Amino acid sequence: MNCSKGIGYDENLNTIRTYQVCNVFEPSQNNWLLTTYVDRRAAQRVYVEIRFTVRDCASIPSVLGSCKETFNLYYLESDHSLSEGRGVEYWTTAPFLKVDTIAADESFSQVDFGGRLMKVNTEVRSFGPLSRGRGFHLAFQDLGACMSLLAVRVFYKKCPSVVQNFAFFPETLTGAESTSLVIARGSCIASAEELDVPIKLYCNGDGEWMVPIGSCSCKAGYEPDKANVCQACPQGTFKSFQGAGLCQQCPPNSLSTAEAATLCGCRNGYYRGDVDKPEDTCTSVPSAPRNLVSVVNETSVVLEWSPPRDTGHRGDLVYNVLCRRCHSSERRTCQSCEDSVAFSPGRRGLRGDHVEISKLRAHTAYTFDVQAINGVSNKSPYPAQQLSINITTNQAAPSLVPIMHQVSSTSRSFSLSWPPPEQPNGIILDYEIRFYDKVGTRVCVCGLRPGTGYLVQVRARTVAGYGAFSKEMLFHTLTDDEYKSELGQQLSLIAGSLVCGVVIVSLVAIAIICTRYLKESVYGDKLQQYTTGGEANLRPDQFSGEAPTVTFPTMSDGHSSPGVKIYIDPFTYEDPNEAVHEFAKEIDPNCVKIEEVLGAGEFGEVYKGRLKLVGKKEFPVAIKTLKAGYSERQRRDFLSEASIMGQFDQPNIIRLEGVVTKSRPTMIITEFMENGALDSFLRRNDGTFPVIQLVGMLRGIASGMRYLAEMSYVHRDLAARNILVNSNLVCKVSDFGLSRYLEEDTSDPTYTSSLGGKIPVRWTAPEAIAYRKFTSASDVWSYGIVTWEVMSYGERPYWDMSNQDVINAIEQDFRLPAPMDCPLVLHQLMLDCWQKDRNARPKFPDLVSMLDKMIRNPASLKTVASHELFLPPSRPSPHALLDRGAPDLSSVSSVEDWLSALKMTQYRDSFVGSGINSLSLITQLTTEDLQRLGVSLAGHQKKILTSVQSMRDHIDDQSPTESL
Ligand code: AMP
Repeated sequence: MNCSKGIGYDENLNTIRTYQVCNVFEPSQNNWLLTTYVDRRAAQRVYVEIRFTVRDCASIPSVLGSCKETFNLYYLESDHSLSEGRGVEYWTTAPFLKVDTIAADESFSQVDFGGRLMKVNTEVRSFGPLSRGRGFHLAFQDLGACMSLLAVRVFYKKCPSVVQNFAFFPETLTGAESTSLVIARGSCIASAEELDVPIKLYCNGDGEWMVPIGSCSCKAGYEPDKANVCQACPQGTFKSFQGAGLCQQCPPNSLSTAEAATLCGCRNGYYRGDVDKPEDTCTSVPSAPRNLVSVVNETSVVLEWSPPRDTGHRGDLVYNVLCRRCHSSERRTCQSCEDSVAFSPGRRGLRGDHVEISKLRAHTAYTFDVQAINGVSNKSPYPAQQLSINITTNQAAPSLVPIMHQVSSTSRSFSLSWPPPEQPNGIILDYEIRFYDKVGTRVCVCGLRPGTGYLVQVRARTVAGYGAFSKEMLFHTLTDDEYKSELGQQLSLIAGSLVCGVVIVSLVAIAIICTRYLKESVYGDKLQQYTTGGEANLRPDQFSGEAPTVTFPTMSDGHSSPGVKIYIDPFTYEDPNEAVHEFAKEIDPNCVKIEEVLGAGEFGEVYKGRLKLVGKKEFPVAIKTLKAGYSERQRRDFLSEASIMGQFDQPNIIRLEGVVTKSRPTMIITEFMENGALDSFLRRNDGTFPVIQLVGMLRGIASGMRYLAEMSYVHRDLAARNILVNSNLVCKVSDFGLSRYLEEDTSDPTYTSSLGGKIPVRWTAPEAIAYRKFTSASDVWSYGIVTWEVMSYGERPYWDMSNQDVINAIEQDFRLPAPMDCPLVLHQLMLDCWQKDRNARPKFPDLVSMLDKMIRNPASLKTVASHELFLPPSRPSPHALLDRGAPDLSSVSSVEDWLSALKMTQYRDSFVGSGINSLSLITQLTTEDLQRLGVSLAGHQKKILTSVQSMRDHIDDQSPTESL
C-alpha cells in the first residue's frame, strides 16, 4: 500500500487528516486502502459518501500515459473483521465486489499542496443487497492517481418511528434496492381502534414513509386531541361512536358521572327508547289518556278519549285497548276478552283517539282500559298509565243460524234441523223459516211438490228482534216413486211425527217442531204454527246447544203423550251411592281443572273450572266441592243433589256434567252459568232490561218448572237466588239440595226452621208453612215471588218485614204490590200464583202459555200496574204496607238520605264530589247532569229523575207563591 496518511486542508482551510497517494510517475500502480470492519446493523443497503480531491493529470508534466484521475471502490462482506497486514496480493485476490469507479467532478490543475485553493469532490455510492455477513470492509483501489481521501462517511437509510392516523409505525430500515418499498405494520395508539385493516405504511429507499393504508381512530368515549392522541371525554360529555368526532354535552335529562362516557345515563324517571339515539333527549312515559267516553250500540261500543296531558316529550304516542269481562260471581272476577271480540282499527298501537269494539256479548258488563304508550313505556318499571271505563252492552239481534240439516224427507215434506245461532244474544223466542221452490217462486198455500228442490232460510228472534236470515240452502222432496219405495221406512217416520203432536191445517204450509221437541209436546206445549206463505215461526223451547228441527208440511191428528218420566227420590235407594251412580256420570278428576272460587256453597267452595272429556272440546263448568271433615251423612246429602239433577234434562234446568266420588275432594260438576245467581245479577243490572227481556227470562224459569212438575218433582226452594243465568240470559233452575229440609241448622235467616225442616218463609205458600204441604202448587206460589223479584230487579220480597209479619200479612190477604213499572198483566200473574186456594193457582204449563202470549203480543205489556198493595176489596188497606214501589221521601233531609232511600248510595261520592250537597240542587238535576255524575244506567237515571220530579212537585205543592 503506497498511500500515506497526511495533513491537508478542507475548503475552509481547516487542517484535516487525509489519505494521500500520488505515484503518477511510476507505472502499474495498484494501491489499496482498507477500512476497518463496519457493522451493517441489519441494513441491506449501505451508502458511502466519499470526500476526495484528485489532481488533473494534464497539469502534471510528462506523466501522460500512466497518470489516472479515478479510483475504485470495493466492499467485502463478512461476519468479522479481517486481519490486517496482508499483502497487495491478498487484496487483489480477495472476493471484493466493486461498487464503482469513481471519478472526480472537479480536479484541480495547479499543483498546490501548500494550502492553496483546491476543489473537494463529494461522491455518494450505495451498494446492496447486503446479506452475507454482519458487516463489511470497504476498500479503495488506486491505479495511479494523485489524490487525497479526505473523509468517508458510511451510512444506511431508515424511516423513523412515526404516529400517523392514530397508529404507531416502528423505525423501519430501507430495502435492499433504492427502489424497494418496505412494508411497516402499524398498531393503534392507546384508546384508538382500527378503522380499516390492515394498517400499513411503506418505507421507500430514501427513508421516507409513503402510501398509508388503513387507519385507526379514537374509540367511543375518546376524542382526537391535537395530533394523534385520543383524549377521554370529560364528565358531563360523551362520545358514542368510534371516529373523528368530538365529545358532546350530555342531552337534556341525562348525565355522565365518569370520564370517557360513551353514553349519558338518563336521570330517574327518564328513559331512552329502543330506537332513540345517544344524542337524543331522555324522555318519560305519557300520563293516562283523558276524557274516556263510550257509546254503546247493541253489542258494539265506540270508545273515544283525549290525548294525555303529558306525552313524555315524545312524538310516538299510541294507545292500547284492553278488554276485560267481569263475570258475575259475587267477587266480580274478570277475565281478558281480547280474543273473542273485534277491535277496529285494532287494539294495539292505535294512533287515533278512538276504537270500535264489536262482537261483544249482549247484556254483558265489560271493562275497557285505554293505555297511553310511547317508545319508552317498555323501559319503565311501572305499568302504563291507563283510564278505564265500564260498559254494559245492550240487547242485539241474534247472529246467523250457521247451517241446516235435512233429517228426513217424503214426497210432500222434508224435516230440517239446525243448531242455534252462535251468538243468540238473548233468549230465542222463536225461529222463522222461509222457503222458495228452486225456480224462485214463493211457496204459498200448497203442500210441497214431489221431486222439487226448495231453497230454505231460517232466522232466530229474540226480544231484540230478528237476526238475519241464514244463507239459502237447497233441500229436495222425494219423487213419488222414490217415496213409494221408501214408504215402509217412511211409515215409521210418520208414526214418529204423530207423536210429535202435529196439526194439519188444510192447504196451508205448516212448520212443526218435531223429533227433539218430543218432550216439549209431551209436556203440553202448544206447537206454534205460522203459516203465511213460505214462512213459519217456530218456538224453540230450548236456547242453548239444542238443535231445533222442523218438518213441513206433514200430518198428524193432534197431541199424544208417550208416558211421563217420574222423578225418583234418591233417598228411596237403600244405598244412596247407588242412586248417584245410576243418575250421574263418574268423571276422572284428571279431566277437571279448577280455576277460581265462585262462592261458598253449603258443603264447601264452589269453583269455576274447565272440563275436558275425551273426544270433546274443553268447556267451562262449575264445580261444587265437599269440604274435608264431612260426615258420611253430609256426603250423602251433598251427592243427593247430583242424584236429583242427573235425572233432569231440560234447557231451563241446570245440567249435571258428572260427579267425582272415587277420589277426594268429592265434586259435583255442572254447566257453567256466566252471570251467576239471578237475584244478584238483577241487582247489578238494575233497570237495564226491556220488559220483554224480563218476560223471556221468566218464561224460561216457568218452562223449567213445568218440566219439574211434569216429573212430579217439587222444588220447595224456588227463589231468584236459586236461578242461575248464563251469558245469553237463559235462566236455569238450580239448587236441588235436600239438606235444607233434612237439617235443623237455622244459621241462615232466609230459612226458618219448622218441624222437620227449614222453610224460606217469604217464598213459601201458606199451606206449606202451616202444615208442610209442599206441592207443585206451592212451587207456583214461589214462582209468583220470583216474578216479583225479577220485575223489581232483585228487591227483597216484603223488604225488611219480619218472617212472622209476613206470615200474618199473607194470612190477612195482603199481597206484594206491583214493582215499579211492572206491566199489569205480570202483576196479575203474580196475584194468580198467590191465591190462597192452591187449586185455584195456575199450573206451570198455564204460566208458560200466559208468558208466551205476552211475548207474542208485547203491546199487552204496555199497561203498567199501579204500585199499590193488592188487597181484596172487602178489606181496608193497612197503612204499614202501603206502596213500597216508590221510595218514601217524607223523612229525607239530606242528599245522602235521599240516595239511600233510592238505594243509590253507590253514587254518593260522585254527588258529594261534584258539590251536589243540598236537596234544592237535587231538584234541578237533568239527564245530562246524571250522565256527568256517572249515572249511566238508563234504569238508574229513570229512578232518580222520577224522584227528582216528585220532589219538585212536592215543593210546588208546598210553596205555590215561592216562584214569584
Ligand atoms: P250454591 O251452593 O248452589 O248456592 O252455589 C253458591 C254460589 O256459587 C251461587 O250463588 C253462584 O254464585 C255460584 N254458582 C253455583 N253454581 C254455579 C254455576 N253452575 N255457574 C256459575 N256459578 C255458580
